[in-house]
Amino acid sequence: MKESDCKRILVTGGAGFLGSHLCEYLLEQGHDVLCVDNFYTGSKRNIAHLRAHPRFELLRHDVTFPLYVEVDEIYNLACPASPVHYQNDPVQTTKTSVHGAINMLGLAKRLKAKILQASTSEVYGDPGVHPQTEDYWGNVNPIGLRSCYDEGKRCAETLFMDYRRQHGLQVKIARIFNTYGPRMHPDDGRVVSNFIMQALADEPLTIYGDGSQTRAFCYVDDLIEALTLLMQTPPGFTGPLNLGNPLEHTMLELAEHIIALSMSHSSIVLRPLPGDDPARRRPDITLARNALHWEPMVALDEGLTRTIDYFRQLRSGAAHADLA
Ligand code: NAD
Ligand code: UDP
Ligand code: UDP
Repeated sequence: MKESDCKRILVTGGAGFLGSHLCEYLLEQGHDVLCVDNFYTGSKRNIAHLRAHPRFELLRHDVTFPLYVEVDEIYNLACPASPVHYQNDPVQTTKTSVHGAINMLGLAKRLKAKILQASTSEVYGDPGVHPQTEDYWGNVNPIGLRSCYDEGKRCAETLFMDYRRQHGLQVKIARIFNTYGPRMHPDDGRVVSNFIMQALADEPLTIYGDGSQTRAFCYVDDLIEALTLLMQTPPGFTGPLNLGNPLEHTMLELAEHIIALSMSHSSIVLRPLPGDDPARRRPDITLARNALHWEPMVALDEGLTRTIDYFRQLRSGAAHADLA
């Protein structure tokens, strides 16, 4: 990369699952990376292998407070993402999405920097349209257990579009669908991490409901590539853009895959379905295909195998040793 192409890039939530992969990718591309995180759900372990990198900088900071730094681009990923984590302190979750967005947009406005928001398929709620296209306005309960996350993210999208209309900011909105891979938090309660941890311990896999609900799972490397491609789209292109893998699976199928791939002796048990749990979810990625010339490449079995390997190492303590 020419020195003039090297950018200073801020990644909020950079010590989290997606953020740590994004920091790593941007460093590999030759950029300077400023990782900002309050370690609410992220960990130093996720970025330990980057700490010695000469172009990597870490700042412990909560994005609900103003931030004065000098950067060229901003990826705003800070926000707990798993239902267990975001429901732990729901008021802080809404603050992080809303106050965090305002502060990062204020920063982008002062710097005239491009800014990308990590939004979510949860803006569609329990969708009445399937698969979900970007022009669907969603079916979200404003007062339920998931609302702090869903409505916070919806308000952040509003703020991004209003800063564009009112202040001419260059904004990009990614609606990310379920993504999995190494460095997911083992206790975050998400289905992939739960099932893999249970399978590796030969404990029963806990299916909520009857297991007929569906999700479509994207491997982390595919998602990170799409985020960086979205950031490089022309100034007039804002999205929102669905990013995810369109192959849909029931939770029962997922459980069976994970048991087989991890060669586990686990059985399956049924547990009550949590409130407001969407019955079906699958992205329509036609827009992303056309705008980014992008397609998810990692098949579910391949991605799950890599993720199982990561959790196996984590369990054995090897991952800690590698990254310490
Ligand atoms: P994660 O919980 O691993 O990462 C979130 C990071 O944000 C953590 O490092 C956490 O410590 C940090 N953070 C939380 N609140 C903060 C605050 N107030 N100030 C500074 N840092 C804060 O989750 P993830 O899966 O990496 O998700 C990253 C982003 O992508 C989130 O915005 C999430 O909503 C979005 N997203 C993720 C998925 C997915 O499947 N992983 C799907 C849709 C959207
Ligand atoms: N902000 C920030 N860093 C900056 C500039 C602004 O954190 O470099 C915060 C600032 O604290 C403000 C928010 O971003 O609360 C929104 O900024 P904006 O300029 O849009 O609004 P105003 O300052 O007029 O409230
Ligand atoms: N789920 C499950 N068992 C678990 C954890 C989750 O059956 O141990 C279900 C959950 O009810 C939901 C789906 O798997 O229907 C995906 O859950 P996750 O929390 O990973 O993501 P989200 O609901 O936010 O898509």
